[in-house]
Amino acid sequence: MTDVLDVAVIGGGASGLCNAVALKSLDKGLSVAIFEQLPRVGKKLITTGNGRCNITNKCISISRFHSENPDFIDYALTYFDNMFIESFFADLGVVFTYEGDKVYPYSLQASSVVDALRFAADKNGVITFLDSKVTDIKKEKDLYAIFVSGKKFLARAVVIAAGLFSGGEKLGSNGSIFKLLKDKGYKTVKTSPAIVQIKTDNKITKSLKGIKVNADVKLLKNGKEINADSGEVLFCDYGLSGPPVMQISREISRQNADFKIVLDLMPEYSFQNVEDIITFRLSVLRGRSLENFFTGMLNTRVGQQIIKMSGKKLSDNVDSISKSDVKTLCKIIKGMEFSVTGTLGYDNSQVTAGGLDTTQFDDTTMMSKKDKGLFCIGEILDVDGDCGGFNLNWAWASAICAAYGAIAFLGDER
Ligand SMILES: Cc1cc2nc3c(=O)[nH]c(=O)nc-3n(C[C@H](O)[C@H](O)[C@H](O)COP(=O)(O)OP(=O)(O)OC[C@H]3O[C@@H](n4cnc5c(N)ncnc54)[C@H](O)[C@@H]3O)c2cc1C
Repeated sequence: MTDVLDVAVIGGGASGLCNAVALKSLDKGLSVAIFEQLPRVGKKLITTGNGRCNITNKCISISRFHSENPDFIDYALTYFDNMFIESFFADLGVVFTYEGDKVYPYSLQASSVVDALRFAADKNGVITFLDSKVTDIKKEKDLYAIFVSGKKFLARAVVIAAGLFSGGEKLGSNGSIFKLLKDKGYKTVKTSPAIVQIKTDNKITKSLKGIKVNADVKLLKNGKEINADSGEVLFCDYGLSGPPVMQISREISRQNADFKIVLDLMPEYSFQNVEDIITFRLSVLRGRSLENFFTGMLNTRVGQQIIKMSGKKLSDNVDSISKSDVKTLCKIIKGMEFSVTGTLGYDNSQVTAGGLDTTQFDDTTMMSKKDKGLFCIGEILDVDGDCGGFNLNWAWASAICAAYGAIAFLGDER
């Protein structure tokens, strides 16, 4: 190893691995080292997409990303879009498969994405220090001193790819470098968990624990709809989970407001359709007890819960249902409402909203405006995306953007 590294990459997760590989593919002669605090690289990456890694999305658009400074995202996502990302990974041997707009490795193994990056890093001479937690970064004349367990390394440029809080300590997400930069005077945007399960009043969700339903899901803030999605919703002992629930969770921890979740349990049918179906059932299911009134229409336990919520007893007879009961049942089916009490927090979230204020960085290089030669990429920045491959796309795009930026910076320095 040379005495002074060209680039020290802090963090061997998605963006750090990608950045190191991109640096070496752009300039084989650079000395690049990754410092990773865990015993292995890509520990979070291996868990992504339920172990399948939703690597990017065919429809990358700024509207699927969130930041206090959305203009910052534009350059990296435009130049290093999903096609660029696919060709980057294709060059590492990854073949793709598609589920709608979501892009996965054909192997459907997130581990194969980690391996593709790891093998390319090793082959191209990236030095990887494992079990190496960076505790401080200091400017020493024109170099950066990186402190790792009592040892000091020097580098001409440093790329910070240390993530934030999502996934928790076991996946390396403790925000230690974020806190370090904050202490050094970097401005930050409030952080909060996003793409996360939602805690609600749980009397009903607990009794339906484990049941999945296809539903339209709305998030209301102080009575106004602010977000919506649809898909498979899972009832849990703490509240609600499933892709559409996680997709709309972002604002809950960011704002102090009265949030409610409303489920439409028969989204393909209008209110009138549901009313007609129930009225028809009243005639054909006469004599039946209400315990089985919705059997064949809704999940049996969900149906029984709806009967109870309407104020009827399961032991009551179908004939006891009045016209106004029909309306009440329709209202519950088309708008089952839950008061939100919070989220399951960082440990269960897929991404952290907020982070380092991006106005402090150059959008075309990811370089700090005040610390020349210091680059920040991935989740540590105030950029987060929707569920569907957008967050990894940001990790890759910002990493490749910073690789070009670091090479230009080192070129200017020489
Ligand atoms: C369960 C789960 C599933 C997900 N699935 C998807 C998906 O399918 N598609 C998608 O687009 N996104 C997904 N995401 C989000 C995606 O994984 C992240 O957005 C992405 O990993 C962020 O990349 P990063 O490089 O910024 O941070 P990370 O991948 O978190 O990497 C940061 C690395 O830095 C290391 N580090 C931190 N501090 C230090 C230090 N002081 N010294 C040395 N090393 C340090 C950490 O150990 C870690 O390895 C998922 C997230 C989770 C938790």
